[in-house]
This record gives sequence, structure tokens and C-alpha cells, in this order.
Amino acid sequence: MASKVFDFIAQEQERQKNTVELIASENFVSEDVLRAVGSCLTNKYSEGYPAQRELGNKGRYYGGCHVVDQLEEYCVQKWKEVFHTDYHVNVQPHSGASANQVAYTAVLKPGDTILAMNLNNGGHLTHGSAVNFSGRIYNACFYDVDENGCIDYDAMERIAHEVKPQLILAGASAYSRIIDFERFAKVAKDVGAYFMVDMAHIAGLVAGGEHPSPFGLADLVSTTTHKTLRGPRGGMVFCKPELAKKLDSAVFPGLQGGPLQHVIAGKAVAAEEACTKEYREYIHNVVVNCKAMCDEFLAMGYDVVTGGTDNHLFLLDLTKTGLTGKAVQEELDRNGITLNKNCVPNEKRSPMQASGVRIGTAAMTTHGFTAEDFRAVAHRIDAVIKKMMAENQ
Ligand SMILES: *Cc1c(COP(=O)(O)O)cnc(C)c1O
Repeated sequence: MASKVFDFIAQEQERQKNTVELIASENFVSEDVLRAVGSCLTNKYSEGYPAQRELGNKGRYYGGCHVVDQLEEYCVQKWKEVFHTDYHVNVQPHSGASANQVAYTAVLKPGDTILAMNLNNGGHLTHGSAVNFSGRIYNACFYDVDENGCIDYDAMERIAHEVKPQLILAGASAYSRIIDFERFAKVAKDVGAYFMVDMAHIAGLVAGGEHPSPFGLADLVSTTTHKTLRGPRGGMVFCKPELAKKLDSAVFPGLQGGPLQHVIAGKAVAAEEACTKEYREYIHNVVVNCKAMCDEFLAMGYDVVTGGTDNHLFLLDLTKTGLTGKAVQEELDRNGITLNKNCVPNEKRSPMQASGVRIGTAAMTTHGFTAEDFRAVAHRIDAVIKKMMAENQ
């Protein structure tokens, strides 16, 4: 008898097929990535790393690892190719959150000070939020955005000199503009801090040359593999070669047990795909489509945080409409459009209500949506919002 689980999977497949997916952190993986992740590699234990004399590691703690050793080395090699980098990379972190935990553990002690972007204005929970391990273990300080919604680099620099952090973190979950890594790197150097970039959202843009690369500037670079990179759900951390040993031992034995070799296989497939001309075209289209959709909202008179976008997402500020992000998210859900509510700079509502929504083009561009299609969706969203406003009167 087939498991009940396959009913759920079939239902979810239908849902994914029938909705317009605008959640900026989601994407659709290829059949090859699915096959790799659904493979027999899930059966294999492989704590440790493929033996590498230069790192002084002695290999795995279990027998039978000769195949997964080659797989993991191949995965590592491919990701270095994707980003044209000779940084060391650990492909074992299970998620973006674990990747960040690993990166911090590699270079920080409990109680050390980190300086990161405020969660309310685009940062991530793992960047020092009080409800997250990062805010409990480390002394988290934050920089913010200015009145236009852009990172306030001058204030960031001033705070860095005040609080003298051990680590400065650049990267965000809801920020639509190019991030000036050079500026961050300079400030980190001036105050003697490690410089880390969490490129979870924009990694695909970095890979495709649509966003400046943090390699060469950052000491540590963490990422997810399932957002714009279009791989399986997971994380990775890159570091300068001199931090390699610290990073690897932070992952294992520091924080994780056996690596997920089926996911590492999916990550390797995604890396192969990210090296292709087709992927570069895809990522270029993600950015072109995002700008087209954002411009359509601006033309209809909507407020967009920062006034536009340079990447795969933008934030609509709904304050003027009197509607909450939550209400708009739920009504769009009923209309077959999936996105998420988001705080806007200087948010007056609680994060559970929020005054904005976040819109991303990575997933539907994978499904072949063109700029024209995204403009049409902008009008569908506008119609729903107008109807809600009329009902509110
Ligand atoms: C998504 C995201 C993460 C966390 O990734 P998970 O895989 O959900 O744990 C970390 N940092 C940033 C900036 C993100 O956007």
C-alpha cells in the first residue's frame, strides 16, 4: 500500500503548478536536482571529510566512503568554479541558518560583538535577533537603513568604530539594492573585525555576474543553495584558505554529525547547472523581469521601498492603501498568487501584520515568465488591492 505521504506530495505538486510563486526566497529545482536528492545517498553515513593532507584531516569516521568522498570533492570543486574562487568551501551545512552558525563558531567566542543589518529593515533572524541563537550567544549590534530604505553606510561605519565588533556582517533577506561590499570590507579592516557576507538571497546573482562578488573582500561567505542558486534546500560556507581548518571543525565535530550526501549530490548538480550559459541567461532575466514588474507598480502609483530594485526582489510599501501586508498576502493567496508580508523601513505595525509585501521573480522566471507576464501579474495584484481598498471604505 502506498504511503499517505504521497497524497500530500501530489497535493503540493498541484499547488505549486497552479499558483504564481512570488516568494523571493523560493525557486523550482531541475529534475536532476530532485533525482539526486531523492537518491540512495541518503543511506550513507560519512562524518568527517574526504582525507586532505594539506588540512591535516584524516578522512571519514566510517567505512564505505570512497564514493561519497569523490562526490563531496566534486561538489567543492564545482562551487569554486561557479564563483571563480580559490576560497575554501564547506558544503555540509544543512541550511542557511546552520551555515551562519558555523561561520560564527569558526571565528567567534560566545560574548563577542557582531554588527549586522537590523532584522526589521531587511536583515535575517540569524544576524543577531534576540529570539535566535545568534542574539543569545553574541553581543549583537545593528546598522540600519536611511529614510530612503538604503543601507546607511556612514552610520554603519560610525557604529563599527563605537562598538568595535569582532565581526561585521553584510547581507539581507529583504533588500533590493546592490550591497557595497568594498565599503564594508574597508570598515572591517579599519576596526580589526572579520568581514562576513551572507549572500543567501543574491548568491545566484553573484554567480551570474549580476551583483558584485564578495570573494576577495570577505573573510567568510555564507549562503543558502535553494534560493536564487536553484539548488536543493541547504547551506554552504566559503572562507579564505587560512580559516579552512577552523571552518571545517566548526561544522564537524563542532555543530553537525553526518553530512547529507544526497543533498550534497543535489548541490553538485546545481553547481553544474550554475556554470552554464543557460543559467547566466536565466539570472539576467530574473533581474530584468524584476525591474519590469517593479516599474509597472511605480507607474501605477505604488510606493516601492528605495524607489526601485537592482536585484531579484522589491518591497511594496502599502502604508498609503491602509491595508496590512498580512491582509494582502492572505487575499492574494485566495487569488492564486503567493508572496509574503514584510516590514517596511520605520514600520509602525507589528511584524505579524506589517505594512508591506516582498515580491521576487526568481521562481516564476524559472517557469518561463517573461517581463510581459510579470507586468500582467502586477496588474492582477493591483486589482486585488483596489478591491480590498473599496471594501474597506
Ligand atoms: C534565507 C536566509 C537564511 C537562512 O536560510 P535557511 O535555509 O532558511 O536557514 C540566512 N540568511 C539570509 C540572509 C537568508 O535570506
